[in-house]
Amino acid sequence: MDFLRTKRIVPYDTLIQQCKNDEEVVTHELGHWKLNHTMYSFMAVQILTLLQVGGYTLVRNSKDLFQSFGFDTQPVLIGLIIFQHTVIPLQHIVSWAFEFQADAFSKKLGYAVPLRAGLIKLQEENLSSMNTDPWYSAYHYSHPPLVERLAAIDELDKKTD
Ligand SMILES: [Zn+2]
Repeated sequence: MDFLRTKRIVPYDTLIQQCKNDEEVVTHELGHWKLNHTMYSFMAVQILTLLQVGGYTLVRNSKDLFQSFGFDTQPVLIGLIIFQHTVIPLQHIVSWAFEFQADAFSKKLGYAVPLRAGLIKLQEENLSSMNTDPWYSAYHYSHPPLVERLAAIDELDKKTD
């Protein structure tokens, strides 16, 4: 019987743990809602889509860009790959700004301490890398890395002091 009981308790504990983490970052999520990020994201996606069509045309027609990647001809597939590596990372600017804003919102409500704890826990759960180069992460990640978010929360401290 005891064996069965412990078997049940283990996943349950994990669930509680996850709920607790959600609570810690809930003000951050509220910030996304209060600051209308869903609507702005929707609009940003429309604008970015247009810009990307233009961006793709620029990439597609740029002989120099193809040549700098070692191509004398301009195959469509290579154009798409170059496009993916040059224009798409620009989207991260918008999502990063929203993340920092939601963190700031959470902090303004007085939840900087639980937010910090929650972000650290989420990082541990997702096993993402701890301290990447800012340029590398700006290029590759849709969310700002933990170290930069914590630094931004601290930076807000200095401003309000
Ligand atoms: Zn967020």
